[in-house]
Amino acid sequence: MPLAKDFLTPEEEHEVVQAIVAAERNTSGEIRVHIENHTEKQPLERAQEVFYQLGMDKTTLQNGVLFYVGVQDHTFAIIGDKGINDLVENNFWDKTKDLVISHFKNGRFKQGLVEGILKAGEKLKVLFPSSDNNKDELPNEISKN
Ligand code: CA
Repeated sequence: MPLAKDFLTPEEEHEVVQAIVAAERNTSGEIRVHIENHTEKQPLERAQEVFYQLGMDKTTLQNGVLFYVGVQDHTFAIIGDKGINDLVENNFWDKTKDLVISHFKNGRFKQGLVEGILKAGEKLKVLFPSSDNNKDELPNEISKN
């Protein structure tokens, strides 16, 4: 298994960032990806911690979404802030997670992230529509450690 820094090639990383840009178009929602090697914590618990560390709880409409990847732990989690979780159907994150993992299982890490991000983006556009020039509240680059 690669380390977090090698999980995606620079080209793949660029494609993931472009997916975030596309997903955030016409919505005030904010998506981030965090990739790390290992944690002793449960993936959802760790994702929640990273969510706060990245300041993702500070969006105006509480509609940040974090994709968390634990490379050496073979873990993946998606969490949304309160604003989106109050509106989204209960199984939406599970379904999105299943889509991403179906690609991960076949080694298609970039493809899994891209499709998951775009799926989340479609939902954000419906729940939090916005004009094209809405403020980018959180950076689109991938967070790694
Ligand atoms: Ca953003």
